[in-house]
Amino acid sequence: MKDVKAMVLVEPRRLSATTLPARSVTSGGWLAVEATGLSGAEVQAWRGDRPDLVYPLIPGQQVVGRVADLADLSLPYEVGTRVVVEPVIRCGRCSSCRSRLHTCTLRRPFNAYGALPSTEPPGLWGGLAELLYIDPRARLHPVTDDVPAEVATFVHPLASGYTWAVQLPKLQPGESVLILGPGPRGLACLLAAQAAGAGWIGITGLDVDRDRLDLAARLGAHLTVDVTTRDVGREVADELGRRPDVVVDVTSDDPEAIHTALDLVRPGGRVILASTKGGRPLLQFWSDVIVGKQLSVIGALGATSEAYDWACRQLECDPRLDDLVSHQFPLDEANRAIQATAGMLGHEELISVAVTF
Ligand SMILES: [Zn+2]
Repeated sequence: MKDVKAMVLVEPRRLSATTLPARSVTSGGWLAVEATGLSGAEVQAWRGDRPDLVYPLIPGQQVVGRVADLADLSLPYEVGTRVVVEPVIRCGRCSSCRSRLHTCTLRRPFNAYGALPSTEPPGLWGGLAELLYIDPRARLHPVTDDVPAEVATFVHPLASGYTWAVQLPKLQPGESVLILGPGPRGLACLLAAQAAGAGWIGITGLDVDRDRLDLAARLGAHLTVDVTTRDVGREVADELGRRPDVVVDVTSDDPEAIHTALDLVRPGGRVILASTKGGRPLLQFWSDVIVGKQLSVIGALGATSEAYDWACRQLECDPRLDDLVSHQFPLDEANRAIQATAGMLGHEELISVAVTF
């Protein structure tokens, strides 16, 4: 096989264009990458904010591509099939997999694309390379050929949105949902809750999120709140007239959001925590609110395979997804792509970012 162009994160903040050999494999296969969506995970890896990661690695976990070569018959797909690849690989045997968690421990530090070091054979474990190794245990979902590859990358956040806003809180038609954070996954929560028949959806953000909040309003959010200038509790009370049934925290590294979520949700409601807080402790945390309001608080990581199936179907029938990927960069400009994802190149018109091949 040919040499493969790849962007290798040699150490934090040093992304290096490299050519790697595609070694021969005896199982699984190879995916010709068409596009890779970027998210906070790539920004954290680039910044060195995840002490558990081992460098060098090829970042990129939201991959869309075509099956290019199969080493054996373990994968039920033909060469040329366009697929999205779930980031998490599940061995099916470790205790995490048996408990249906999204943290397979077969390989270290995580058995997941974009997180495995390039020293782990056969080396090509990230979406910022022309080829991606298809592990025999990887979960692939065929996607339509009728949309551009960069739009298809939005299947990944959309699957997370469905898992977090619909599946985990067991959202019922007519219920109200407040989403904290209007990033790609927050907007995906909006689309998923809407499709599940939510009766009311609000979404909050910061002043820099104005374009994302405007898009949320165009997508049908009943309320958008810039929390830097407005009181979200008062706005929700005015617009909804009661407390929301479900609050989803999809903010970026904002410990305060947990207080907001627990404070605003209705008694007996559900709070989904889908954003980490950079390892920082929560100050002045009064757990009595959880007891007193009899809340269900659920930690969310990753998306289910059922959610991926749902998101792939949405890609075929929801033309609004065209607007969700705002920025595209070629592989050579992956460094700028990561900076754009982090908001370092400005927030104007920034919705989400993809690298295309
Ligand atoms: Zn496992």
